[in-house]
Amino acid sequence: MFRIGIGHDMHRLAAGRPLVLGGVAIESERGAEGHSDADALSHAVTDAILGALCEGDIGLHFPDRDPQWKDADSLALLARVVWLASQRGYSVVNVDATVMLESPRLRPYVQQMRERLAEVLSVDAGCVSVKAKTGEGLDAVGEGRAVTVQAVVLLQRI
Ligand code: MG
Repeated sequence: MFRIGIGHDMHRLAAGRPLVLGGVAIESERGAEGHSDADALSHAVTDAILGALCEGDIGLHFPDRDPQWKDADSLALLARVVWLASQRGYSVVNVDATVMLESPRLRPYVQQMRERLAEVLSVDAGCVSVKAKTGEGLDAVGEGRAVTVQAVVLLQRI
């Protein structure tokens, strides 16, 4: 028995904010705005798992009005959702994600992101794909005003 889920996230970029993607700190003049650490990659994967479980979305489980989640480590939120999946009898098979960011180029960080996510998801890094694209100078991503992520996850019955 398999279940598939899709996740999407977008964060505004601003000067003086850290940029964290997949639990990895990215060297960047501009970072992501948000209530938690604004890790859009972890958020999209979290939403994909919740989607596969039909358990609502990240905002339902970790409301951004709740001070408990202020500056939260998004990998910890992801870990809680992986735990929820295990409680429902499911484990992660694989993840495929696309991060869209104009700059900096993410290639030097991709392997580390895959390893950090794989550790939390309890899978081999070979089961976590992170692809990096730019916005080709178009739209909010292309103008360097936002980072967006799309993620798909497959779960299997334990
Ligand atoms: Mg988010």
